[in-house]
Amino acid sequence: MIVLVLNAGSSSLKFQLVRTDLLCIANHLDEKLARGTIERIGGEAVFTLRGRGDAVSRGSAPMRDVRAAIEYIVTWLASAESGPVIGSVGEIQAVGHRVVHGGERFQRSVRIDDAVLRGMEDMIELAPLHNPHNLKGVAAARAVLGAELPNVAVFDTAFHHTLPEKAYLYAIPYQLYRRHKVRRYGFHGTSHRYVAYRWRKLTLVAREATRIITLHLGNGCSACAIDGGNSVDTSMGFTPLEGLVMGTRSGDLDPAVLEFLGVKEGLSPTEVDSLLNKSSGLLGLSGLTNDMRELLAEAHENNDRRARLAIDIFCYRARKYVGAYLAALGGADAILFAGGIGENAAEVRAQILHGLEWAGIEVDEEANNRMVGGAEGRITTHSSRLAAWVIPTDEELLIARDTFRVVTGVEGRY
Ligand code: ADP
Repeated sequence: MIVLVLNAGSSSLKFQLVRTDLLCIANHLDEKLARGTIERIGGEAVFTLRGRGDAVSRGSAPMRDVRAAIEYIVTWLASAESGPVIGSVGEIQAVGHRVVHGGERFQRSVRIDDAVLRGMEDMIELAPLHNPHNLKGVAAARAVLGAELPNVAVFDTAFHHTLPEKAYLYAIPYQLYRRHKVRRYGFHGTSHRYVAYRWRKLTLVAREATRIITLHLGNGCSACAIDGGNSVDTSMGFTPLEGLVMGTRSGDLDPAVLEFLGVKEGLSPTEVDSLLNKSSGLLGLSGLTNDMRELLAEAHENNDRRARLAIDIFCYRARKYVGAYLAALGGADAILFAGGIGENAAEVRAQILHGLEWAGIEVDEEANNRMVGGAEGRITTHSSRLAAWVIPTDEELLIARDTFRVVTGVEGRY
């Protein structure tokens, strides 16, 4: 089945075209036929599209909305410029959408019909920054490719539906959970689910027999404790602001700071929220950048104190979460690193793991330094009691596989 995977943001659209089926899934042989990003939708949009072989199209074109962007992509896919990747648009058999918030209602990927669309609309209140754009992506795909073509929603929150009450409830008056559904939802679920699944396939360990801690470290960062294949705790909460230090987000902090800062700095609640989401984390601490690669370069080449401080705090917070989840799980078999930082920054991985020797971690320095740029493998010694691995994440692949499963009715374990 050829699946178009879409991730629609406020003014951007990312896509991949993936060929998958049961045989591909079983043998990890799914084919990435094309991928690309369109940014600044709404005006003169800028695109990078990669098709068959070395075919790359870069440039700009006026695109009024996400519908125009999807039209541009599918026309390009069937044009000589892309290879062509497909003979005609009719070869696309389904569309898989990344949807940020599924609330308590959507516990797995679903085929989108009118009832699901209404459910996604109800969720806007919980994810005002993301879900409206995801919804527009769905409407646009239906308009461009026809309402009969199956569209499937894959939710970032769904994997965490197995969190027990003790992990998802905040210690605030219980009625607030009942009335407003204030609770931990967790995000990055598609990434945590993919990485844990992939590790089980590589090590041939049965799902039921595993206790894993996954660290998705990208621009957004989150940790997840996985017991028997199910998410039992995760660091992001009601929104993706809680937990680890991220590129521009603070992660955990004392909630009393919000009002204090509002008064002292004369900021509205919305402005404080923006400060914590957009000007904090690595960027706020370093005063330089939210980009870990640049921070590492600054720390090494210019001995920049604040860059070093930001990296230290980032690693310390991640290690504390690993410790907490080791306690929550009663020990673990493996720690898995994913995301741009987790997959590329060997130094950051080593710094997070350093100090976990008591838990049985023995880093294999040579293997750790080798595991960059998309490499997949173990970074601890064979005698290490607790293993650590790098598993490059692939959310689009899992979205394509889920879409195939939902459309054909061959449902897998979640
Ligand atoms: P997103 O969460 O937006 O998908 P990514 O998973 O691509 O982001 O992660 C982006 C982060 O990964 C950035 O902080 C970037 O600096 C970092 N990163 C990418 N490559 C490297 C590298 N070679 N060394 C260190 N950090 C890297």
